[in-house]
Amino acid sequence: MNWIENLKKIVAEDIIFVDAKILQNYASDYTEDLVHFPDIVMKPNTVEEISVILKFCTEHKIPVTPRGAGTGLSGGSLPVNGGISLSMEKFNRILDIDEANFQATVESGVINETFQQAVKERGLFYPPDPASKGSCFLGGNIAHSSGGPKALKYGTTKDYVLNLQVVLPTGEILWTGSDTLKNSTGYNLTQLMIGSEGTLGVVTKIVFKLLPLPKHDVLMLAKFKRIDDACEAVPKIFINGMSPSALELMEKNAVTYVEKHSGLSLNSSSEENEIMAYLLIEVDGNDMDQLFTDCEGINEVLEANNVVEVQFADTTEQKEQLWKIRRSIGEMVKIHSIYKEEDAVVKRANLPALVSGTKQLGDAYGFESVCYGHAGDGNLHINILKGNMSDENWNGPHLEEAIRKIFRLCKSLGGTISGEHGIGLVQKKFMNEVLDPIHFKLMKGIKNTFDPSGILNPNKIWEEH
Ligand SMILES: Cc1cc2nc3c(=O)[nH]c(=O)nc-3n(C[C@H](O)[C@H](O)[C@H](O)COP(=O)(O)OP(=O)(O)OC[C@H]3O[C@@H](n4cnc5c(N)ncnc54)[C@H](O)[C@@H]3O)c2cc1C
Repeated sequence: MNWIENLKKIVAEDIIFVDAKILQNYASDYTEDLVHFPDIVMKPNTVEEISVILKFCTEHKIPVTPRGAGTGLSGGSLPVNGGISLSMEKFNRILDIDEANFQATVESGVINETFQQAVKERGLFYPPDPASKGSCFLGGNIAHSSGGPKALKYGTTKDYVLNLQVVLPTGEILWTGSDTLKNSTGYNLTQLMIGSEGTLGVVTKIVFKLLPLPKHDVLMLAKFKRIDDACEAVPKIFINGMSPSALELMEKNAVTYVEKHSGLSLNSSSEENEIMAYLLIEVDGNDMDQLFTDCEGINEVLEANNVVEVQFADTTEQKEQLWKIRRSIGEMVKIHSIYKEEDAVVKRANLPALVSGTKQLGDAYGFESVCYGHAGDGNLHINILKGNMSDENWNGPHLEEAIRKIFRLCKSLGGTISGEHGIGLVQKKFMNEVLDPIHFKLMKGIKNTFDPSGILNPNKIWEEH
C-alpha cells in the first residue's frame, strides 16, 4: 500500500511490522474469539514518533488503534477498520517514584502488577488490581478506568490519576492536568481521557497518586447453599458498619470450571456438593485487633444469612491460592465453552435481583450463566455459555435479545451495561439501552473536537449511523 511506503519515509523502518504472524498476534484480544487484522503493527519508542505517526494518519485518514496488552474484554484494541495497530509495549519504564509526595510517573506500557510491586517495595500502595494485573498495561487501565477487587474500598483507576501525557490525533502533545492532589483549573481533561477507550488520544505517560501500604489483611471464604443468601449478605455487611477491602462472589459453576481446567482446587470435601455460592471477603488495615473485630461483624451478617461455613486463609500461600482461583475464572470459563462476557453493574442492594433475573432469562432463552465478580460494587461478570444453543440462536437475534433484556434489567435496578470492561466493539449496539440521543450528540461532538478526521480507534463505543 502506498501509505505504508510514505510512512516509512518519516519514521524508522524498524518500528513497522508487516509479517503475517505478527499481524495475527495483534488481530485479536481476550474478547471472545474475534479477529480483525491491522494492515501494519507499529511499536514506537518515543512520544515524538507517536506524534509524527498520528499527524500523518490524520492527514491521510489512516485508522490507528492504540493497543496495550490486549487483555481487553470488549474488543477495544481490535483494529476493525484495518490501518495501524499502535502497540505501546515499548513504553515500559517506571520513570519516578516520588516518596515525599506519594506519587509516581510511569510510561503507559508498564504492566499493572510490575508497578504495584515496585511501589510496594517502597512501602507505598497502588490499589487498582484487575484480575489481569499480571499482564495488562496501565495505559489500558486508563482507557477503561479498570477496577478489580480492591476497587470496593479504594476506587478504580480514575481515582489515582493526577496527570496524563497524551498525543492527540492531530499530533499535538499535551499534559492534561497538574501533578497536584487538587486542581480546579478549567475542564477536567484528565478525567475525560480516562475511560475514553483510546478514541480521543494516545496516553504516553501517567502521574499516579499513591497511598501508604496497609500493614495487614485477613481473607475469608464464606460458603452458601443458596446464591440468594450470598447476594443478600453483601449489602448487609455494609449496613452493619463494615467496609471490606474486597467482597467477591463466585458461583459454584465458576469454581467447578476453574477446578476442572486449571488444576487449582478449593479442596472442598464431598459434603460440600450442596454449596452453590462463595463469598471471598478481605479486610485490610494497620490494626490487627480492629481487623478481627471487623471479621466478627461480618461473620454475624453471614450467619444471619445462612452461611454454612466460613474458612480463614491462614497463610500467604492460602490467600494467594484463593485469589488465583478467583482470578482465573474468566479464562477457565473461556476454555470450557464458547462464551460471551457481560459486565453488568447495579446498585449493590439490587444484586440478588440481578442474579435471579439473569437465571430466569437463562431458563427462558436456553443458556447457562456463570455469575461472579465484584459483588461489593454491585458489579457482576455474567458469562453466558453457548452450551447446546444452535449457532443460529447464538449468533442471531435470539441471544442478542436475551443480552438486551439483561441490560434492561440492569437499568431497572439502577445500573448500567459496563462497570469496568468498557463498551469497545461488542457492547456498542446496547448503548441505546442506557444512553439518550443527547449523550451520543455530546460524545460525538467531543470526539470530533479531539479527532476531526475520525482516525483514532474508529467504530468503537457507539454505532456509526
Ligand atoms: C483474565 C482477565 C481478567 C480481567 N479482570 C479484570 C478486572 O478485574 N477488572 C477490570 O477492570 N478489567 C479486567 N479485565 C479486562 C482488561 O484486563 C482491562 O480492561 C485492562 O485494563 C486492559 O488493558 P490492556 O493493556 O490489555 O488494554 P488493551 O486490551 O490492549 O486495550 C484496551 C483499550 O485501551 C486502549 N488503549 C490501550 N492502551 C492505550 C493507550 N496508551 N492510550 C490510549 N488508549 C489505549 C485500546 O485502544 C483499547 O480500547 C480482565 C481481563 C482478563 C483477560
